[in-house]
Amino acid sequence: MDNTQKLIELFKEFPGIGPRQAKRFVYFLLNRNPGYASDLARIINEVRSTVHACNTCFRFFPNGVNKTCAICLDETRENTLMLVSQDVDLENIEKTKFYNGHYFVLGGSIPILEKNPEKRIRQKDLLQIIENRTKNGLTEIILALNYNPEGENTLTHLKELITDNFPALKISTLGRGLSTGTELEYSDSDTIKNALKNRQ
Ligand SMILES: [Zn+2]
Repeated sequence: MDNTQKLIELFKEFPGIGPRQAKRFVYFLLNRNPGYASDLARIINEVRSTVHACNTCFRFFPNGVNKTCAICLDETRENTLMLVSQDVDLENIEKTKFYNGHYFVLGGSIPILEKNPEKRIRQKDLLQIIENRTKNGLTEIILALNYNPEGENTLTHLKELITDNFPALKISTLGRGLSTGTELEYSDSDTIKNALKNRQ
């Protein structure tokens, strides 16, 4: 395989990118001046070596000496824990400025009929974090997942998991301000705010 083909294959692994788009990316790079490609390569390397997952909520943040992000360290925040699938969901919810608790990024969701759901999300880490937070007076877990079949399936799994391990914990889910098929990633602030306000 020549390098052009290798690059196409690498772009094909990006979420939502098919072979035709991957090819377009490669020709786009070839048509730009060489500085563009070297900037891109350098910045990818820099981001990869300076941005890491927080050791508490697992969101990505540029960590210097800190292994824990500013949201997790902020003691003025409420003692609630919101579970989201991915970093962009957290960012979207943070943007509403309506939620003032803590987060946990699951790192994925569970497809229907998945035989090993615990491999699709950070289940072990999640249980550990809930246990730590419970000792410090955690009051509520909010499941903020997409309103699509995969999100619903993840929600059912998490509810069972948390109820089995922490029967006394209050669990709530986003209200139906979001319509079916909605993904948090593409929801506007008002919609998310309403879903949070009407959580049940
Ligand atoms: Zn964090």
